[in-house]
Amino acid sequence: MSVQIKGIAKETLDFILQVSKSTYPQEFAGLLQSKDGIITDILILPGTESSEINAVLKLFMMPNISAVGSVHSHPSSVIRPSKADLRLFSKTGTHHIIAGHPYGPGNWKCFNRKGEEISLQVLDVEIEEDELL
Ligand code: ZN
Repeated sequence: MSVQIKGIAKETLDFILQVSKSTYPQEFAGLLQSKDGIITDILILPGTESSEINAVLKLFMMPNISAVGSVHSHPSSVIRPSKADLRLFSKTGTHHIIAGHPYGPGNWKCFNRKGEEISLQVLDVEIEEDELL
């Protein structure tokens, strides 16, 4: 079962870039959640000393978590899925965002579950404060 995704809320994207920046040089990872086909929520993982990707994988396996995809940062600036990323992408979800250092407005890309780049519209929609976190 997959949800038709129309885009990501600008506020949510800004939030991703901001968290990526504040987590740098560490990697940040989380799950994307949507409402009415728009990605508006990020479920952030608590800091882990092991691989963030493995932590995301564990979250995906939790019964009560539904996500349309994942998000994580690449402190290396290279915005291309690694082998571990591709394994994660193939598990679940249709939209996987990678943000690359220095995490400016254009330093991110969205990929499908095969790791192919796909376009993701940035939408100017209102989000209630309590839904952002
Ligand atoms: Zn990665």
